[in-house]
Amino acid sequence: MVIYKSSCHPVDIPKLDIFSFLFTPNDQNSSISHDRPLLIDAETGKTFSYAQVRSLSRKLATGWKENVGLTKGQVVAVFAPNQVDHAILYFSLLAAGCTISPGNPNYTEDEFHHQVHTSGATAIVTIPSLLPVLTKVADKNGIPKDRMFVFGEKQVEHALSFAQVTSKNEIAFPDRRIDPENDLAFIMFSSGTTGVAKGVMLSHSNFVSQVLSVMTFEKEDGAIRDNDIMLSFLPYYHIFGLTTLILRATYAMIPVVVMSKFDLKRYCELIQKYKVTIATLVPPIAVLLAKSPIVPNYDLTSLRMITSGAAPLGKEHIEQLYQRIKAPVRQGYGLSESCSGFIYQSIQAGDVGATGRLVSHALVKLVDPDGNELGDDQPGELLLKGPYQMKGYINNQKANEETFTADGWMRTGDVAKYDSKTGEFYIVDRIKELIKYKGLQVAPAELESLLVGHDQVADCCVVGVYDAAQATELPRAYIVLQASAHPSDALAQELMDYITNKVVNHKKLRGGIRFVDAIPKSAAGKILRREIKDWIKKEEQEN
Ligand code: AMP
Repeated sequence: MVIYKSSCHPVDIPKLDIFSFLFTPNDQNSSISHDRPLLIDAETGKTFSYAQVRSLSRKLATGWKENVGLTKGQVVAVFAPNQVDHAILYFSLLAAGCTISPGNPNYTEDEFHHQVHTSGATAIVTIPSLLPVLTKVADKNGIPKDRMFVFGEKQVEHALSFAQVTSKNEIAFPDRRIDPENDLAFIMFSSGTTGVAKGVMLSHSNFVSQVLSVMTFEKEDGAIRDNDIMLSFLPYYHIFGLTTLILRATYAMIPVVVMSKFDLKRYCELIQKYKVTIATLVPPIAVLLAKSPIVPNYDLTSLRMITSGAAPLGKEHIEQLYQRIKAPVRQGYGLSESCSGFIYQSIQAGDVGATGRLVSHALVKLVDPDGNELGDDQPGELLLKGPYQMKGYINNQKANEETFTADGWMRTGDVAKYDSKTGEFYIVDRIKELIKYKGLQVAPAELESLLVGHDQVADCCVVGVYDAAQATELPRAYIVLQASAHPSDALAQELMDYITNKVVNHKKLRGGIRFVDAIPKSAAGKILRREIKDWIKKEEQEN
């Protein structure tokens, strides 16, 4: 039996809630002043120090309890583009004992509803421009008007701002009743190995162990230094942005320049202005940095490490990026279900194109489709056991049974190989249905169920098509029409528009539509996605 173990030192994981863990002095930050800026607003230059973040979070937490009446265990949905005080909101809700369910602010009304309903949220925090749609969603879910809140200080109609909620008092927080192992800190959304987006239950201990395990790996690797500074555009509603740019940055007291949306020119200007040392990004941004003609106009020599995650970054893209930026480019691999990355590359050395090594406490095995354990150099599905593995999908026993083996291993739906020569893992394929557009999830099952709701569609299947130039997958639909309908460019456009009107931007059918006579299925009626992937390969070879 081959079980791969981390070669990092096992680190003691304290039984603490996230707030206490982040704001108790630790050996990563002992030499750093608590008054050094921790959060820097890219637009206004406004800063918050670690001491201010702690104090403001406590005052807001007091307000949630005393002025609003939020109680321990209540779920608060947060839909907003990255804000400089996003971290303060998260810390305040965690200190008050609430569970946070963050989601994409560009969702449609139905998508917002799905998350609010599934997570059981009883309050919503957003930005003023989203209030009209989210008030409708709140009504539909029985969330009262006095449970709608907006970021910032400005007073608006139909919601309370943080300034109105915040208390003058900073009483002793966090809530002492928080049970770190069992109480949920976040409910993220992920489609897992099959089906539509589900609520991923992550406890305080899941995050504490994730942060400590990656930090131990990075410390041993020399990846983090006292004078580091990061730039954040990765969304805080996704596990990668949340763990890397809020939790780990706060733990190590690394200043973070917060952008609310990505713009390449602005990104380069900010790296130059703040002498950013660590770039955390997703593959399509790595490609832009490697190729865009505007990048050489800026001095990016302060960058000393680039971490790419959320999707695979190909060897040739890594090499091109290194040619230009001359900083080690490393990959990180993980899932919402594993509380983010547990395989990281070293910045010291490593094979270009490898995914990396296990961080502390990770146990991994590779299995064939029948569940037989495989050894070195044999690709198989990667199964994880570790303290950062989710508690399960909320109210979804069927998905939990499919995801966990009887002895507690969590299936990732990704195929990996451990290379005996390099000593590194390589993610070589994905067997789950999931499509990733620029690091964000697209669940084929969701688009398929929308498409079969169209009166011209008899059957369909949605798969990802890799676009090397953009380093991302694009969702493409294979469609069987009703007998009365006829394939045409106009109908393909109509179906693409139909989807565009029903989903958030990143789920659009950017890979196009193909009309086919039948969708390949097994005897049990399961779509044979592999066969469709073979069609794609054939089409690519023909072009
Ligand atoms: P999410 O929960 O949105 O972070 O999606 C997790 C999935 O993204 C994983 O199961 C992988 O399929 C994919 N993924 C994340 N990081 C990598 C990586 N470095 N290489 C390959 N696939 C990745």
